[in-house]
Amino acid sequence: MKPVFRERDYTRVALLQSVLEAKGIQTFVRNQYSSTQIIGFPNPAFFPALCVVNDEDYEEARQILKDYLNEDGEKASLELPCPACGERNPGNFEICWNCGAALAQDSEQ
Ligand SMILES: [Zn+2]
Repeated sequence: MKPVFRERDYTRVALLQSVLEAKGIQTFVRNQYSSTQIIGFPNPAFFPALCVVNDEDYEEARQILKDYLNEDGEKASLELPCPACGERNPGNFEICWNCGAALAQDSEQ
């Protein structure tokens, strides 16, 4: 079981879960309730995490999410590289979807 997406906002995790389930990929959410229980505790390790049940679905799930998120929101075309792992994230992300690190926001340039 591998996490493919992690974000503090559970409603967004649940939305993406429905996207994957619609594609026939079995998923479950870890830490579903922790974001509301641990207020002010910013450790992404405790954020709700969308996981694939079967590891062989991992790459496909990531691709589906990438395609989906690239269509979602006008900032999404601007990709942000993760400072921790180097994974590229859609520009409307605040947290790396791969490792959960906080992404630098584009307030300056
Ligand atoms: Zn990362």
